[in-house]
Amino acid sequence: LPCTVRDLSEAAGVPARDIQRILMEEGVMATINTPMDPELTEFVAAELGMDVDFLQPETLEDKVLRRLDEIEDDEKDLQDRPPVITFLGHVDHGKTSLLDKLIGIDVASGESGGITQHIRAYQIEKGDKKISFVDTPGHEAFTAMRARGANVTDIAVIVVAADDGVMPQTEEAISHARAADVPIVVALNKMDLPGADPMKAMTGLSQNGLQPSEWGGDVEVVKTSAATGEGLDELLDTILTVAELHEYKANPNRSAIGVCLEATQDADQGVQAKMIVETGTLRIGDIVVCGDAYGRVRSMSNTLDKHQKMDEAGPTATVNLTGFDVAPPAGERFYVLDDVAQAREIAEARAHQTRSEFLGQTGYQHVTLETLFDRLDGVEEVQTLNLIIRADVRGSIEAIQKELAKLEHPEVRLRVLQASVGGVTAADIHLADASDAIIIAFNVVPEESARSLAEQSGVQVRRYDIIYKITDELRAAMEGMLRPEK
Ligand code: GDP
Repeated sequence: LPCTVRDLSEAAGVPARDIQRILMEEGVMATINTPMDPELTEFVAAELGMDVDFLQPETLEDKVLRRLDEIEDDEKDLQDRPPVITFLGHVDHGKTSLLDKLIGIDVASGESGGITQHIRAYQIEKGDKKISFVDTPGHEAFTAMRARGANVTDIAVIVVAADDGVMPQTEEAISHARAADVPIVVALNKMDLPGADPMKAMTGLSQNGLQPSEWGGDVEVVKTSAATGEGLDELLDTILTVAELHEYKANPNRSAIGVCLEATQDADQGVQAKMIVETGTLRIGDIVVCGDAYGRVRSMSNTLDKHQKMDEAGPTATVNLTGFDVAPPAGERFYVLDDVAQAREIAEARAHQTRSEFLGQTGYQHVTLETLFDRLDGVEEVQTLNLIIRADVRGSIEAIQKELAKLEHPEVRLRVLQASVGGVTAADIHLADASDAIIIAFNVVPEESARSLAEQSGVQVRRYDIIYKITDELRAAMEGMLRPEK
């Protein structure tokens, strides 16, 4: 909302005519209701010897939902919870088949074109332990969810076909998993095939920074076959060991928060939403709000078997739920509230915002080289500047990385999330958006879709054709010497 002369007068405790006089001197004829843009407001305030801070009015959503987000659980209320696993990897390396085999169904063979279109979510039992799987169609979707704050994944399983080895999308998957800061387990799949070459695949992995534990590194590589079932038990055991190490916990005795993974609406079935609970316990009759949808939980069923009804769903349980008035957006978090009127009001307020407004409203500004220094200001700990590099040829990437390694700064650590050959893609922008990264495009241009996405999300894509210019500008940015281009 623009600030009017009256607003400033009231906020500053200064008569409106004093403000009008300052404006007059600047050649602006203002009435008490004249709106001023932020620049002008700041100017006037400075003339009055004051500083201004622009605060967003607190919405009901902020008041209710953000507060629920901020509740800190008491250590004593926390209990172990099942880990949430996501499979990532190159297309056709066996993500879908592995998950099918683990849960005992067959989706892979029925999928059109072999590409899984849906977000799948299941919870299985291994002995007395549970494991939840959330499978996104590709790492782009994984990262797009993360960008919206839906960080449900605890452990990424990178699936690599042993006959094919590490492929470009495997490298991307590794970058995405790394950017999400989750532990990585590798399933070296298709071991039944005569062409399986685990040595070559593991060499590819270590070239990408994943050192197999059998070579003395810290990444567990499990040899599997979705065809024969080989290694699947071991894969689950490995996942459980990694999970134990990280001690994932949640408080089951609070109102539930989770994520809508997918939702459909049709005349027969009404609204069906596939959800995963992150914390708390969801029960029949609970009042839920999720994006612009709200309602009372009418029924819940197991995602593996819709005939198996559930009365409650605790941390990391996956459920199919009915009761929403409209289909909630995928990737949106849901909350349980006490007051149905409040839930309706929040949902309606959200329904009025278009998606782009909604994203813009978060008010989050991505880092740019021009704003990097301001971010460092006053911050004690070392800051990480995430970079994604796209270049024309492999040799350029190596040369750029060599130059970057020489850059040292006491307050900034450079971290290259991904470096690959080719133009900047929409997937790069999603990754940068989710990880607050800057994209360096060397002798390449962004694809059209990437360009508009970058504009929408505020991700900075910097184009270069001389390597030392990259490091010069980075150095200048770290020192606060880089001025915005006019
Ligand atoms: P995704 O694209 O990674 O989900 O891969 P899919 O699970 O769809 O598998 C791609 C193809 O590889 C399918 O034809 C599967 O039957 C086959 N496949 C998957 N895993 C194995 C395996 O371990 N051994 C063999 N021989 N074939 C496999």
